[in-house]
Amino acid sequence: MSLVIVGSLAFDTIETPKERRERIVGGSGTYCALAASFFTKPRVVGVIGRDFPKRTLAFLRSRDIDLKGVEVRPGKTFHWEGRYGEDPNQRTTVRTDLNVFADFKPRLPPSYRSADILYLANIDPDLHGSVLAQAKKTRLVAMDTIRYWIETKPDAVVRELGRVDVYFANDEEVKLLAGDSNLVRAGKKLLKYGPSLVVAKKGEHGALVFGRDFVFGVLARPCDEVVDPTGAGDSFAGGFLGHLDRVPRPTGRELRRAAVYGSIIASFVIEDFGVDRFLTLCPEEIDARYREFRKLVSF
Ligand code: AMP
Repeated sequence: MSLVIVGSLAFDTIETPKERRERIVGGSGTYCALAASFFTKPRVVGVIGRDFPKRTLAFLRSRDIDLKGVEVRPGKTFHWEGRYGEDPNQRTTVRTDLNVFADFKPRLPPSYRSADILYLANIDPDLHGSVLAQAKKTRLVAMDTIRYWIETKPDAVVRELGRVDVYFANDEEVKLLAGDSNLVRAGKKLLKYGPSLVVAKKGEHGALVFGRDFVFGVLARPCDEVVDPTGAGDSFAGGFLGHLDRVPRPTGRELRRAAVYGSIIASFVIEDFGVDRFLTLCPEEIDARYREFRKLVSF
């Protein structure tokens, strides 16, 4: 049982129609690791500056997240600023200060190299090769991208799809990369580039999981107020991969369960700003939502 997550640890400035929060803790690696920590003991590879809060590191450790792979460098932590409109699915990146993330060269500590599952959470696709070369015996490799990489390095993203098993992206990114405005055709096209699963996340509409011979749909939990949608995608991936890490084999049934857990954990993170909801979340709440989900989709 071992899940290694390579991603960002960040400060985020978030503006929603109701509120603005400056420099709160975020990052694709942070969200994914916290979400996965409800299912397994994730290990994180990333980089932070000396300004990253010690109490956040202590909280991550208290959730049994292994931080041996997180380098502390002189300088400032990566800072991202995003703004949401009335529609929480619409997000604008206002600013990206890479800071210490600019020359991030992921290094897997020796104890991480035999990871079962490796997740490349939205890092430069040109860094994937060096990470994969350091890992041995990985049984599943997953990746995520953002629009930025699809627009600036589309060939590298397509090349990397040929080296991973699971590709997570939002529906808009799946269509953009495939060059097809129909999500089903686009998802199937991306499967031809190599991954055995394409997970197209659709915000408040849930997600579609495309496999070679099946399509599985999972709802997002109907929710009447989204406080902050940031990190929903990374948390979905954390729940999905965290569940797969605790089962012996990723059978079709477990893949479907993984998608449900991904959706459930994402439904919690959007209830508060940043990673705050993870401070109080407990396994019983996850179990209760799992039961609620069963009722929601049974007919
Ligand atoms: P999500 O809402 O799941 O797509 O992820 C949001 C998180 O991604 C935020 O906490 C940001 O800090 C992080 N993020 C935004 N841009 C980048 C980037 N270029 N590289 C790595 N992480 C990023």
